[in-house]
Amino acid sequence: MNFRNARILVAGAGGFIGGHLVADLLRSGCSSIRAVDIKPPAQWHQRFVGVENMQLDLTEKSACAEASRGVTHIFNLAADMGGMGYIETHKTACMLSVLINTHLLLAARDCGAERFFYSSSACVYAADKQTNTAVTPLKESDAYPAMPEDGYGWEKLFAERMCHHFREDFGLETRIARFHNVYGPWGTYDGGREKAPAAICRKVIAAKRGGQSEIEIWGDGRQTRSFMYIDDCLVGIDKITNSDIPDPLNLGSDQLISIDHLVDIVESIADIKLRRVYNLAAPKGVRGRNSDNTQISQRLGWAPSIRMEAGMERTYAWIYDQMTGGSRRISQ
Ligand code: NAD
Repeated sequence: MNFRNARILVAGAGGFIGGHLVADLLRSGCSSIRAVDIKPPAQWHQRFVGVENMQLDLTEKSACAEASRGVTHIFNLAADMGGMGYIETHKTACMLSVLINTHLLLAARDCGAERFFYSSSACVYAADKQTNTAVTPLKESDAYPAMPEDGYGWEKLFAERMCHHFREDFGLETRIARFHNVYGPWGTYDGGREKAPAAICRKVIAAKRGGQSEIEIWGDGRQTRSFMYIDDCLVGIDKITNSDIPDPLNLGSDQLISIDHLVDIVESIADIKLRRVYNLAAPKGVRGRNSDNTQISQRLGWAPSIRMEAGMERTYAWIYDQMTGGSRRISQ
């Protein structure tokens, strides 16, 4: 299957990954794309000519029906989410995204969609399997017995199960990726929803430009994560959606690094050394998290491979441009 002749809905197209996905689908020759987001198009991370851009609140059942009218493929990337600073303090808002996926699945069934992609998260994994920095990479089966991230993670796990049962009960072909921290150009880097890679770039750039000698780091710097560059994420979405694998698959890098190491990488790109002030009271999430890529490697013959050093170089350059007025947020 490819998407050339598909009529596609990208839900959450005004966001970071949704915007890149629309760009990627256009590059691969898709001519029928409807891009939907709750934000007015002027606020989208990226928007494109030749695409039907719509502002709709997809928590509403009628909006999902309108968004899905006539489409064959649905990519659901719409969610109320952000980095740790956001999801730890907006649990209800995160859980209310359940309305988006529920209503979109109903709309997908009713419009006879051929395929439905759902963007789940590594936040579905049980907290007691992520308690030390030298964490064992998380296998798909580690999501059960369930004890995910409160709020956001529970909503993702529930939505995964909804996808599963829509496939079982109605034959809707659902595909699910569990994204592990995605980063890259066009990502949020300020305002409270940003994630660690972008936040650290912003802080280092601000310190460098402002002549400051220190930056604040959330936590003690030793907590570990893996981060996937957006280009790998796009390849993974394509491969998973086109696969015959309905079970949730990890889509993440398995290059485990500490937050301190991430700061080292950014400092080296910026050619600066800063004193680190650790804020132990700030939201920091689980102690360690990494992606076990056995399933995706074996079943798809591929896994994310872009090294953090390379991805951060491009991400830093983009954020630097934004902060210094080099280019505007909206791409086309
Ligand atoms: P994002 O916040 O940039 O994009 C989500 C978009 O959904 C936003 O533009 C937002 O306005 C839109 N949205 C929210 N509520 C809506 C509603 N009611 N109706 C229509 N649109 C609505 O996030 P992202 O980083 O692009 O993430 C995309 C998806 O991937 C989300 O489902 C997210 O949970 C998941 N995910 C992302 C990451 C990551 O590291 N970025 C990690 C794990 C999972």
